[in-house]
Amino acid sequence: MTEAFDRSAFADRVVAVTGGASGIGEASARAFARCGARVVILDRDGDRAAEVGNAIQAEGGRARSYCADVTDAARVNQIVSEVVSELGSLDVLHANAGIELACSVAETALDEWRRVLDVNLTGAFITAKAALVPMVHARSGAVVFTASTLAVLGAAETAAYSAAKAGVLALTRVLAIEAAPLGVRVNAVLPGGTDTPMLRREARLAPDEATQLDRFARIHPLGRLARPEEIAAGVLFLASDAGSFVTGVALPVDGGVLAVQSAGPALSYTS
Ligand code: NAP
Repeated sequence: MTEAFDRSAFADRVVAVTGGASGIGEASARAFARCGARVVILDRDGDRAAEVGNAIQAEGGRARSYCADVTDAARVNQIVSEVVSELGSLDVLHANAGIELACSVAETALDEWRRVLDVNLTGAFITAKAALVPMVHARSGAVVFTASTLAVLGAAETAAYSAAKAGVLALTRVLAIEAAPLGVRVNAVLPGGTDTPMLRREARLAPDEATQLDRFARIHPLGRLARPEEIAAGVLFLASDAGSFVTGVALPVDGGVLAVQSAGPALSYTS
């Protein structure tokens, strides 16, 4: 689907992707690079980030990689400054880094709750705040957050994750309003279940991984999980000139999950 974008849709634009070493972020980084962007990968796994950057370069794309934790504001600010000073701009941020936690409210320890909120919500705030500085200076830019359908629907054993992702949607709306007069658009994608290392880790919590993956797939009216590239296609649309009048939206890329008015049994992630 990303082939629907012109190979020059992001020509020479500088695009930062957090969590770009795996899953949705890797697919996004590769798709932006195929469309001409100079991609900046930030991930706490520096080795894997470097591997993705090398793979992009081997395909003829342009990429640089940084080992960075999105909860470390000083490190994120330093990388943004370095990127702008060496590449001249920061045009797009895909704030995507995230972690999962499948746990009931009763069993969620306070430090686990704080860790999920810290990475998934505060990390999104830190990276967006840092990226806004050069974007506002240029009076141009686009931020795309990766939220989740769990930001808007209820499922057992997802409280910290769902609360963080709902916070990302609130951040999307508020920042979109604040940044619009400054020339910056801000949107979010809401992926449905996507076949990534994160989803497979969650599936392994159930007694049988294959059965659980099948169960996840059947939640979607389209009857399957998304490929990471399909989520990346939504991200590229929101970041591209094709989305030039789109700001403050949460775009479901979810195989129809949010269209379902369920009267069935409540969704649980581990059983
Ligand atoms: P993934 O395969 O685990 O990739 C996430 C990447 O982010 C990993 O490389 C991870 O490193 C990195 N990361 C985690 N915490 C970080 C931090 N503090 N600083 C920098 N990098 C960090 O997961 P994914 O499925 O692609 O998920 C990407 C985003 O999509 C997440 O925000 C997730 O919540 C969201 N999402 C996923 C699904 C799904 O079904 N997969 C559905 C809806 C939304 P480590 O491997 O070291 O943790």
